[in-house]
Amino acid sequence: MAGTSALIGLLLHTFFDGVAIASAFLVRPELGLMVFIAIFLHKLPEGVTISSIMMAGAERERGGRAAALLGLATLAGVIMTDHVGFLVQHGLAISAGVAIYVAASNLVPELQGKHGWTMPAAFFAGALVFFGTKTLVDGLS
Ligand SMILES: [Zn+2]
Repeated sequence: MAGTSALIGLLLHTFFDGVAIASAFLVRPELGLMVFIAIFLHKLPEGVTISSIMMAGAERERGGRAAALLGLATLAGVIMTDHVGFLVQHGLAISAGVAIYVAASNLVPELQGKHGWTMPAAFFAGALVFFGTKTLVDGLS
């Protein structure tokens, strides 16, 4: 049951991963490339997360299928964005809002609860990677 609810939540999330990629490309190809790179980088941990949740529960054999479904949901988000006017106009804003909400409500409080310097250093390294990628992508245009 926990696996099923996690799968439903992650399917919704990965659908909007796809919406973010497609709508960012519609705004500007350089932005689309940057969003694609960011989403591509977190696909592996996303797949490991859902597979682990499924394999830890009674739904052991469904781990691989659940990870594949997340990939399909991302592709569905990309394809639907091209055909649904609401997603074309508001998809990037909704995706950005959801990402900021998750970061502010879950990730940053989690990192503040840890002692030591490794988590803050990883957070700032992520910000530096973002600015490095942005600089590289801006150089392409
Ligand atoms: Zn994602």
